Amino acid sequence: MKALSVGVRTLVWLAVLAAIAFALYAFSRSRPQDVPWTPLDLSQPVGMFTRAKIGDLAGDFAGCRTLLDAAGVRYTALPPRDDAGQCGYDDAVRMRGGGSRTIAITPDVGVSCRVATGMALWEWQVVQPAAQKHFGEPVVRIENFGSYNCRRIYGRDTGAFSEHATANALDIAAFVLADGRRVSVVGDWTAGQGRDDAAKAAFLREVRDGACGVFSTVLSPDYNAAHRDHFHFDQATRGFGGACR
Ligand SMILES: [Zn+2]
Repeated sequence: MKALSVGVRTLVWLAVLAAIAFALYAFSRSRPQDVPWTPLDLSQPVGMFTRAKIGDLAGDFAGCRTLLDAAGVRYTALPPRDDAGQCGYDDAVRMRGGGSRTIAITPDVGVSCRVATGMALWEWQVVQPAAQKHFGEPVVRIENFGSYNCRRIYGRDTGAFSEHATANALDIAAFVLADGRRVSVVGDWTAGQGRDDAAKAAFLREVRDGACGVFSTVLSPDYNAAHRDHFHFDQATRGFGGACR
């Protein structure tokens, strides 16, 4: 009798474990972006582990480019650059826009492959849906203030070098809609009284918040006055946590 009950208990535990394993398997199949062990796929929605998986591409230029290629992102790989030791890059691409799903980034700019990956996800899954929601039309151009810049944080003479010093950052200034309307961080972050103004301010907050799922650092006018006219995005190595302000 005792031996039988031990056997039944073992069977029950095995059934429970099998059910848990099946649930995990089904979850990872249905939401691969929310599971840490599935490979990054730029066609999947942004999930809990998307940002960490982009971070894992550090030092894997070939793997990162394979992802961009598979997603139809158009770019030119840039030759390595080494300026005075602290500055330079060996994993940069010049984003060209006009691919199957990407629009123009103007001026076209060289960024680390991880920044390009974040930009592609941000544009498809955050910027365009937000533009449809708030304006009923797509963004056709994203304007930037540049990426590579051999300098320390805030241009100081001492202290840590900025992610801009390795092209691992991009400063976003404005968005141009299909009908020509322009939404700029400096002009529209604080809503005025016009008909469009509330929509523009809401759009800017939504795309700032959405960037936090694909960039390890997101700084906006909410952070400090130095960012009153742009969003700073970068892919600094931070482990699991990001900075989003
Ligand atoms: Zn910046």
